[in-house]
Amino acid sequence: MKRTRFLRAAAALLTIMILLCPLLAAGAENAAAGTEKATEETEKPTAAPTHTPSELQAMGILTVGAKGDEVTRLQQRLKDLGYLSGKVDGQYGGGTKRAVISFQRRNGLQTDGVAGETTLAKLYTEDAVAAPENSEPVDVLAGSVPMLVNNDHPVDEYFVPADLVELRDILDKKLVKIKYKKTRGVRTAVEALEKMFEAAKEDKIKNWQVSAGYRTWDDQVKMLNAKISSYRKKNKDWSSSKARRAALKSVAEAGCSEHHLGLAFDLNVPGAKTFSSTKQYKWLKEHCWDYGFIIRYTKEKQEITGFNPEAWHIRYVGEEHAQYMKEHDLCLEEYIQGIEDGTIKVPSKTESTDEDLDEGTGDAAGDEAEAEENEEEAAPEEEPEEAADEEEEI
Ligand SMILES: [Zn+2]
Repeated sequence: MKRTRFLRAAAALLTIMILLCPLLAAGAENAAAGTEKATEETEKPTAAPTHTPSELQAMGILTVGAKGDEVTRLQQRLKDLGYLSGKVDGQYGGGTKRAVISFQRRNGLQTDGVAGETTLAKLYTEDAVAAPENSEPVDVLAGSVPMLVNNDHPVDEYFVPADLVELRDILDKKLVKIKYKKTRGVRTAVEALEKMFEAAKEDKIKNWQVSAGYRTWDDQVKMLNAKISSYRKKNKDWSSSKARRAALKSVAEAGCSEHHLGLAFDLNVPGAKTFSSTKQYKWLKEHCWDYGFIIRYTKEKQEITGFNPEAWHIRYVGEEHAQYMKEHDLCLEEYIQGIEDGTIKVPSKTESTDEDLDEGTGDAAGDEAEAEENEEEAAPEEEPEEAADEEEEI
């Protein structure tokens, strides 16, 4: 009895799979990529059929793992349109996938990185939109709600924040060291850093270092690849996908890092083994909110942010938002969700908090000359040690 029922069920499943196959062949490229939309459309009790890249290729769908002339033609076209910077080698790998995603995004197609019928049809027409040569810089502080960048909300590779400045042009060398001299950030955020470090100095907390600011798409690709190879070097038996999974816990995929916004900075203390054990971190945790910064990745919110905790990574969101988040113990994802749900009312912009802060610091301001003297003692003579490598990520 049971066996008959099982056989019947198996036959029914097979029929459904056979019925689904022509759908795929007809160019339902979404199904192949397993994207969100595809999940919605094909959400049925039966498991979606899986196909190898070559089976998909036979159906006219090119995806990671496909190879040959069709891939060469695809790559050449992507290159001509300015989407592919790597070589044309007839192998559909990560670079080709990224180029396809960029093309899809620019052309209003679903961004699944799979070149199916719709994507290929658009790609080979005359009205295929080419990659922009120069992207229009984005005012990342224009909205009334902070911009969210994470694994689910990536920016594209042409994204450039407006008003980027070099940190060394704004930050006082006596207040903070800049580990890589070309480090950049959005002016407003860098000015907030300056204000924050000044206040810290009044509290006799000095010796800061900024080890990262704005990052380009290519910077992020390089960082992730370096992290993956370092994992593979340390763990010879790890597969590349295992190393990649591990790396993605602390280094974001290109497009998914907040550093692309020019509003995130990594801080450390030269010579300190871990930033979280320093008095600078203790001070930061208490005061950064007043200058518009949040400590973005904490242990408590790890499940929501999707990243390992990072004491050293701060993100500028503006004072009114930062203070609200501190008061209500919210991470950025929760805060933005609350605003979207209508459960949180966007706080109004606080006017200059200079006066409040002056009151707050009280007699800690001290005398300038004395502070200058202490500077010498506090700053170590030797070159700053490299911070522990896990402290420069996401
Ligand atoms: Zn960071």
